[in-house]
Amino acid sequence: MTADLASRIQRVQGALADATIDGLIVTPGSDLRYLTGYDAKALERLTALVLPQAGDPVLVVPALEVAEAKRSPAALAGMDIVTHEETDDAYAVATAILSGAGRVAVDDHMWAQRLLTLQAAYVDVTWRAAGRLLTDLRMRKAPDEVASLQHAGAAIDRVHRRMGEFLKVGRTEREAATLIADAIVAEGHVAADFVIVGSGPNGASPHHGVSEREIESGDTVVIDIGGSTQEGYRSDCTRTYAVGAEPPAEVTEYYEILRDAQRAQCDYARPGVTAESVDRVGRTVIREGGFGDYFVHRTGHGIGLETHEEPYIVEGNQLVLEAGMAFSIEPGIYLPGRHGARIEDIVVTTDDGLDRLNTTTRALTVLAG
Ligand code: ZN
Ligand code: ZN
Ligand code: ZN
Repeated sequence: MTADLASRIQRVQGALADATIDGLIVTPGSDLRYLTGYDAKALERLTALVLPQAGDPVLVVPALEVAEAKRSPAALAGMDIVTHEETDDAYAVATAILSGAGRVAVDDHMWAQRLLTLQAAYVDVTWRAAGRLLTDLRMRKAPDEVASLQHAGAAIDRVHRRMGEFLKVGRTEREAATLIADAIVAEGHVAADFVIVGSGPNGASPHHGVSEREIESGDTVVIDIGGSTQEGYRSDCTRTYAVGAEPPAEVTEYYEILRDAQRAQCDYARPGVTAESVDRVGRTVIREGGFGDYFVHRTGHGIGLETHEEPYIVEGNQLVLEAGMAFSIEPGIYLPGRHGARIEDIVVTTDDGLDRLNTTTRALTVLAG
């Protein structure tokens, strides 16, 4: 881990040099966690990694949080920590480390209030968003990151295997979701990030959360769930179930088309093909099956320390996939007002194909209810 952090810092410094940027300031969030291992809370006091293009990185932290910061992997590996007291100007402490800098990048998620304070105090600096520069690193997963994603995938698979305990006729979506969220934690996550229980017509809304609707016999139910592990890596997996009875014949018909599409995409995606072509492969299968108008979202998103990150598997993204990229393949078919289905696996590209990190059956499973 520590060697990894050192190499991440070095690669960022190389990217800063290439972009002729003198330094980088990263506030709490997944970028900070990626570069330091520090899962700092975003509070009103300034916590930041300050990284000169050449020179040692410094973790700037409020004095009252220094004990936490010292337990972070970066600090344990020897990264310098500078603290500020309640009455200090924390921004002056941070920018002193980059004195003389002309161009400074900040993480994409820095609060506007922080950036505005920096801009007001340091008028001679040209500010840049660090997004692309950090994304280029973060979307290429190291082996230990892939292992963390595998653990997360196995944990969420265990929850899907237990779905018969949670989806019952007469239970509301919200009641089912509460039980599922508990299971997400019990099966190996530190937190449930989201639980979508889309029963019956609610399954036709891809980002439906939960509602007070009671599950009825014969309902098709879309379950899209994810959580975060101790190391910060995320799971995200969708399966579609029928509860209490076989689903309507129409659902069975389009479900097979959906399954063919998702399988075709998983067979196709590999290093050397573009992100958008993976989307097209699935869309073509669904269109030729007659349901093209009902696949209303992109195929997928990258995943790592965030549930949605690069690379996005969407028309227009000409990024060429490389080994070690992690993303979802999650086509869906949604008939508004009636029902819907989605199949989602997290995959990681290997040298010549991909590994699926979710392995539970992709068949439409009928639960006793
Ligand atoms: Zn989503
Ligand atoms: Zn999902
Ligand atoms: Zn997803």
